[in-house]
Amino acid sequence: MTPEHVKCLIIGSGPAGYTAAIYAARANMKPVLYQGGQPGGQLTITTEVDNFPGYPDGVEGPQMMQDLEKQARRFGTDIRYGMVTAVDFSETPGHGRPHRITVDDKLELTADSVIISTGASAKWLGLPSEMRLNGRGVSACAVCDGFFFRGQDVAIVGAGDTAAEEASYLANLCRKVYMLVRRGDMRASKFMQQRVKTAPNIEILFHTETEEILGDDEVSGVRVKNTVSGEERVLDVTGFFVAIGHKPNTDIFRDYLDLDESGYILTEKGSTRTNIPGVFACGDAQDNIYRQAVTAAGTGCMAALDAERYLVTLEMQDQELVH
Ligand code: NDP
Repeated sequence: MTPEHVKCLIIGSGPAGYTAAIYAARANMKPVLYQGGQPGGQLTITTEVDNFPGYPDGVEGPQMMQDLEKQARRFGTDIRYGMVTAVDFSETPGHGRPHRITVDDKLELTADSVIISTGASAKWLGLPSEMRLNGRGVSACAVCDGFFFRGQDVAIVGAGDTAAEEASYLANLCRKVYMLVRRGDMRASKFMQQRVKTAPNIEILFHTETEEILGDDEVSGVRVKNTVSGEERVLDVTGFFVAIGHKPNTDIFRDYLDLDESGYILTEKGSTRTNIPGVFACGDAQDNIYRQAVTAAGTGCMAALDAERYLVTLEMQDQELVH
């Protein structure tokens, strides 16, 4: 059976993917968008978003993603559940198309242009106990899971803006929050540092690394080590949150696309073009610096415009071949 063919395939459904879809649909590129494992992306696990232009009173992250999805549908984007599990971007000589895409390990499609907006996912420490107790007191999303630890003592590892923001969130729910910082200072902005340092129920432990998360079926404590004194101690906590940054979701593209050492897709300066003709990358999958909803949306727009120009060039080439 011939696989379904689409002009413009968008992979991922964060602000980048939906913005690309809005522009592509309005340009009559008939985009098909696969939402991936977390429809709406990282913003669906956020609370208030105060810095996205156009929402003067702020907006809840999930609501904003529903709005973006609705706007993409309004112009005719074909939005589908499903995870792109493999791609084949090996070039057809002279054309670089069609690209082959596999959805959920079984459905095959071909596409003239592909927009990658797969975003990034939370990083983990890599401890065996962290994996074993994941979902049983270990979490990478305070906003999603903090509720379960109301009135209890918890720990959060990390020292960036995310960790500081999540520690503040947890401090509103929990009795005590230990913030585990591996160095002697924090990477978070001065404002966020001030916020955690002045919260009465947040205790920041500097030079502190996590040795093991304790508990059989659920978290009952965490063994930490001071890297200066070598002293070990056990913190009596029932929740353990990890907020140490993100990893771009680009593994399936590794065989074809140029990536940097952290896995971010490399694009041509000032554009969303990758090293493969007809494949464009936007949002956090290619942005190691700004990583904001608004910058993701901006690059989503760029990807749709770049893809549109590419498709026009293809059509012109096809017409020349006919004549
Ligand atoms: P960051 O990369 O900024 O920070 C990660 C933190 O985790 C660092 O403090 C790092 O420590 C620590 N870390 C990394 N690996 C380990 C480990 N194995 N053990 C212990 N600690 C570890 O990630 P964020 O997610 O915090 O932020 C990402 C970007 O998003 C930033 O640009 C940030 O400013 C932005 N952001 C902005 C917000 C806002 O403006 N409201 C809210 C949230 C994020 P070390 O410093 O020692 O390397």
